[in-house]
Amino acid sequence: MPKYAFGRKSEKCLKELDPRLQDLARLMMSKQEMDFAIVCGHRNESEQNAAFAAGASKVKFPDSKHNTLPARAYDRVPYPIPLNAAGEWDDKSPLWGRLAALERRCAAELGIEIINTIPWDRPHCELKD
Ligand SMILES: [Zn+2]
Repeated sequence: MPKYAFGRKSEKCLKELDPRLQDLARLMMSKQEMDFAIVCGHRNESEQNAAFAAGASKVKFPDSKHNTLPARAYDRVPYPIPLNAAGEWDDKSPLWGRLAALERRCAAELGIEIINTIPWDRPHCELKD
């Protein structure tokens, strides 16, 4: 048994993704360097506009790469999710940078161009094209 593996929610999100992003996430997990979860794949119109209203996205449907099916973006988080003293996601945790670096290495290995360095959206990773 591998030390780290995707749970049911991650697997559900993975199925909604462009095959290149599925390959990327699975390669990252296969490295067994750290645990992480995929928390969002496709977002439909009401989910996207709810994310916009909550400040979790800066665009409305259908302008996010989460809005296509298969989705051309996913959100992933280190697992367990690092929390600050207030119990909110801790953007300052070094785990986000470690996960993004692992992602860039794996993307280079697969020859996939990604954008995963949006400062205000640390869980987000999308295909460049
Ligand atoms: Zn996202």
